[in-house]
Amino acid sequence: MSKYVALVDCNSFFCSCERKTNPELNNRPLCVVSGERGCIIARSTEAKLMGIKMGIPLFKAVQEYPNCIYITANHQKYFEISKKIMYILKEFSPNIEVYSIDEAFVDLTGLQKAYKKNYFQIARLMKDKIWQEIGIPVSIGVSKSKTLAKLASDRAKSTEDGILLLGKSKIKNYLKNVEISEVWGIGKKLTIRFRKFGIKTVNQFISKDDKWIKNYFGKNGLVTKYELQGKYINHIINNPPLPKSIIDTQSFPEFTSNFDYIKNELNIHIHTACSRLRQIGCKCNKIGVIIKTKDFNYSFLELKLENPTDFELNISKSAYSLLKKMYLSNTPYRSVGIILSEFTSVQNEQLKLFDNEKTTKKNEKLGKTIDKLERKFGRNIIQVGFIHKKIPNKQNFMTSPTLIY
Ligand SMILES: [Mg+2]
Repeated sequence: MSKYVALVDCNSFFCSCERKTNPELNNRPLCVVSGERGCIIARSTEAKLMGIKMGIPLFKAVQEYPNCIYITANHQKYFEISKKIMYILKEFSPNIEVYSIDEAFVDLTGLQKAYKKNYFQIARLMKDKIWQEIGIPVSIGVSKSKTLAKLASDRAKSTEDGILLLGKSKIKNYLKNVEISEVWGIGKKLTIRFRKFGIKTVNQFISKDDKWIKNYFGKNGLVTKYELQGKYINHIINNPPLPKSIIDTQSFPEFTSNFDYIKNELNIHIHTACSRLRQIGCKCNKIGVIIKTKDFNYSFLELKLENPTDFELNISKSAYSLLKKMYLSNTPYRSVGIILSEFTSVQNEQLKLFDNEKTTKKNEKLGKTIDKLERKFGRNIIQVGFIHKKIPNKQNFMTSPTLIY
């Protein structure tokens, strides 16, 4: 069957997320910044039109463009909204690839029959559904390969519908005036190389023969040529399979029988394993604790959790009880470890059910924040016990309480 791929891309995603929760921001120039002393990481169309550049420091932007609104990024919020959008896309097609927080490839092949609509109409259906249910505007490019779908979605932003369908018969003509630098994966360096060979447009590139392309631009160059010709080479990579388990363990610097010490070490392993879980977007349903004596005898116990989790405090209580059952006070131990298993993908969770769970949400936020802070300040800077600190509001500078110390 003839392949058709859509690339769904959220428009100014972070800004759109902020507008969703605060409609007062609609139609006003808006920038999302990485932090109080950070830089611009997202701009609304109005801000782009004012000439604000991506990546400039906040203080500079405020000086030059005092009429723009600046908001600190709330990545947890964006992640939650992204999950809901991906969930909707999955309702359309089982074969989707989440490419980034605000972009996904969707395999539309064969959906024409199921929906009794053409591909353009299906794209419109997706766009409308995301707008009505989530309140985020998207642009959609539809074509015969991932490379073409990506190009079409970029170009779709300047169309009235926000949708661009590049069917087989239209491809060649369309590519005539497209600059090679617009193509997915072709950055500044490659553009300069192409220029050296006198190649400026996509058509000039694909008119070169295979041997020449392979010689100067390697296998990837050739794949790009075929994809630009409408051949489906780069496949949509459906969500990668989940690992079976995550194990974190390490030998103590010296043998010990001290329960509190062993418990503390277990805590550190729980934390490492949980942040790995969050990284891969999973929750575990089962936990196990393993403890090894000086003489290499080991004990292992596991239990099933009531609810899937990726949060330290939900795991530690059960883990302590397992440890307690195995621990013998006069035995010298050499190591302790945690094993998390039976994973479910966060994306596959029933989102509506999950929405009602305030504590789950709060814990998720905490876990993510710990990971973020650790990336910035180093491992284990945070132990149990949290104080919530709000950043004071400043004029022209709206903040979301995202920092937790
Ligand atoms: Mg985007």
